[in-house]
Amino acid sequence: SSSSSMSPSSTLPYHTPAEIDEIHERLLTTFRAGTTQPLPYRRHQLLQLARLVQDNATALEDAVFKDLGKPRQEAAVAELGNVLNCCLYDADHLEEWTKPEKPQVAAWRSDWDTTVYRVPKGLVLVIGPWNYPYILTLGPFMGAIAAGCTCVVKGSELAPATAQLLADLFPKYLDPHAYAFVNGAVPETTHLLERRWDHIMFTGSSKTGRVIAAAAAKHVTPVTLELGGKSPVVIADDADIEIAAKRVLYGKLQNSGQLCVSPDHVYVPRNKQDAFIAALLKMYKTFWPNGPFHEGSRWGNIVNPAQHARLRSLLNRTKGEVVIGGYFDGDKRIAPTIVKNVKLDDALMEDELFGPILPIIAVDNLEEAIHLIGTQPAPLVIYAFTSDEVVKEKLLELTRSGTLCMNDTVTHLAVYEMPFGGQGDSGHGTWNSKYTFDAFTHLRSYVDIPLALEPKLSDRYPPYTDEKYHA
Ligand code: NAD
Repeated sequence: SSSSSMSPSSTLPYHTPAEIDEIHERLLTTFRAGTTQPLPYRRHQLLQLARLVQDNATALEDAVFKDLGKPRQEAAVAELGNVLNCCLYDADHLEEWTKPEKPQVAAWRSDWDTTVYRVPKGLVLVIGPWNYPYILTLGPFMGAIAAGCTCVVKGSELAPATAQLLADLFPKYLDPHAYAFVNGAVPETTHLLERRWDHIMFTGSSKTGRVIAAAAAKHVTPVTLELGGKSPVVIADDADIEIAAKRVLYGKLQNSGQLCVSPDHVYVPRNKQDAFIAALLKMYKTFWPNGPFHEGSRWGNIVNPAQHARLRSLLNRTKGEVVIGGYFDGDKRIAPTIVKNVKLDDALMEDELFGPILPIIAVDNLEEAIHLIGTQPAPLVIYAFTSDEVVKEKLLELTRSGTLCMNDTVTHLAVYEMPFGGQGDSGHGTWNSKYTFDAFTHLRSYVDIPLALEPKLSDRYPPYTDEKYHA
């Protein structure tokens, strides 16, 4: 079709509007036939997804290396390992999660059959970003399988090698009548959004999140929006500076800073700024003894030249002092960069950084850090380094974020037994394993009022008399 574009670095075209319509129709028919509901079917499809990942681990790592230069160690652990573990965990918990619930009802209703069924919402849509192209598409997708939905997954056009590989592998492992991987960019996604879905789970930028929410509203479709933001780190007075520096730098280096929960910037007590920076520099030299661009450093790329240019421009405009880094090779990589004495009105504080730049902001005390955090949109996560219970309580009470993570960065994402999601500008709704299942599940109340109870109900029928009113 003429309105469909060619993907930039693959030989296969994006899905055409006609193909998208055909897929939508096919998956809707399958859902209505009840095919995806039996638990053995769901379990089989979840295990097939696990097999897809296991059989093709090397090709999947190759593809994400091609797209992002993502180090294999990061792809294996943060992406493929997580997908595999969650598939097996979900498959093991299907009975428990889908068990109908018998609520405690008032005594006079105890003869009624009252049951809450956990039923699939229907045909659902998952839209994913490029930065973690496996866990952020397949993670939501496996929740749709677990819930008994049929599902279209739309990968990101900015990670074309991974998207194409998933599009090729999907029909080889998964029921093509129930699930499809769609390739495309904005026009294709816009076309998808014109169709009716029973839930949309979107992971991406806050800007696009608003487009998705508006499109969903036309069909009154519920949405889960996993968006971005500037996740701050608070270094408290009592923090172990060495461990804090190591763990912050570790979180920042993941995917070269292109991570939704990347520690965006750091609030450090003014009298600790020098010590903290010294500790960061020490770790920097341990992590990259020959510099980040040395081959052995396995330092990944910025996704594309436009993003590279955006980050370079921020470095040009910052009024902070670059302590280390600040250089780049062509338009592929940017060295991990630490910038100190950054103020809140600095270029680096305008938007989610989404790159390997770490601004350090000196504050007088914890209260100032909490105040400054409050002036910003609610982030996906707030990190804090402290062992002081009073500090922890203050952060719990006086700040807002999707997650509050103490004494580490990024790793909380691996706790798939907990919900993951944002608040305010960083999105709404949660996902991760059981919580993804919940997002794609409708709580359907079922009531059966026995005919034999008719005599007990006589007072509710007209004629409405005073006698019945006072009964
Ligand atoms: P993006 O919003 O540009 O794109 C995400 C998806 O939306 C892609 O599939 C893209 O094709 C589609 N899309 C883009 N523009 C669209 C439009 N106008 N209409 C319809 N569809 C459109 O995001 P991105 O650059 O791929 O990802 C980076 C962003 O995602 C960052 O802001 C990051 O914080 C956020 N993110 C959030 C999470 C989370 O779990 N909350 C995880 C990873 C990334």
